Amino acid sequence: MGDQQILIIGAPGAGKGTQSKRLAEEYGLEHVTTGDALRENKDVETEHGTPREYMEAGELVPDELVNEIVKEALESADGYVLDGYPRNESQVEYLEGITELDVVLHLEVGEETLVDRLTGRRVDPETGDNYHVEFDMPDDEEIRERLEQRDDDTEETVRERLRVFEENTKPVIENYEDHEGYVRIDGEQSPDEVWDDIREAVNERTA
Ligand code: AMP
Repeated sequence: MGDQQILIIGAPGAGKGTQSKRLAEEYGLEHVTTGDALRENKDVETEHGTPREYMEAGELVPDELVNEIVKEALESADGYVLDGYPRNESQVEYLEGITELDVVLHLEVGEETLVDRLTGRRVDPETGDNYHVEFDMPDDEEIRERLEQRDDDTEETVRERLRVFEENTKPVIENYEDHEGYVRIDGEQSPDEVWDDIREAVNERTA
């Protein structure tokens, strides 16, 4: 098991999920992702309602809920790759109180690419692997037939998620530019090229 403490941050559709999975596998890290944790608990009743209501509207789920998820996950992890959190300033403050980051990977991708990637994205419910109707369909017919579209990958919700990103998460990323482990990665490249840059950055900063 690796002990690197890595944050991967970027807009929805930047490739965080794909690259985090790979990081977790290759370095033996815990993949801590608030999006997946919330999707698994969409209908849990809380004092703020269910996560589903926020997620289907493209809004942020209340901080108390996601903070708790992250705290529990990080407590039981040695090394981790954190994906989908923090998304606003208050989550940054909370995170600073519970851990220290070695590397901050910022996946940068332009808005047009994000919309195309998200609206065409399809997910294999059995493996969690992402595909794309235009750029990347699986050869295996059985997998092709079971692919699903996420409820929040419709064009209207995608636009709202990107607006929420601009308003809440972009300032968070700008502040991380001063972090000593910060590195900007060109997320418009192919997944393998992005991976090469990520591996190089992580090795350099955690050697
Ligand atoms: P994701 O899979 O990271 O795109 O997240 C899907 C949805 O889950 C988001 O649009 C939010 O509604 C919710 N969500 C995930 N992470 C967070 C977070 N850190 N804070 C608030 N809401 C979140």
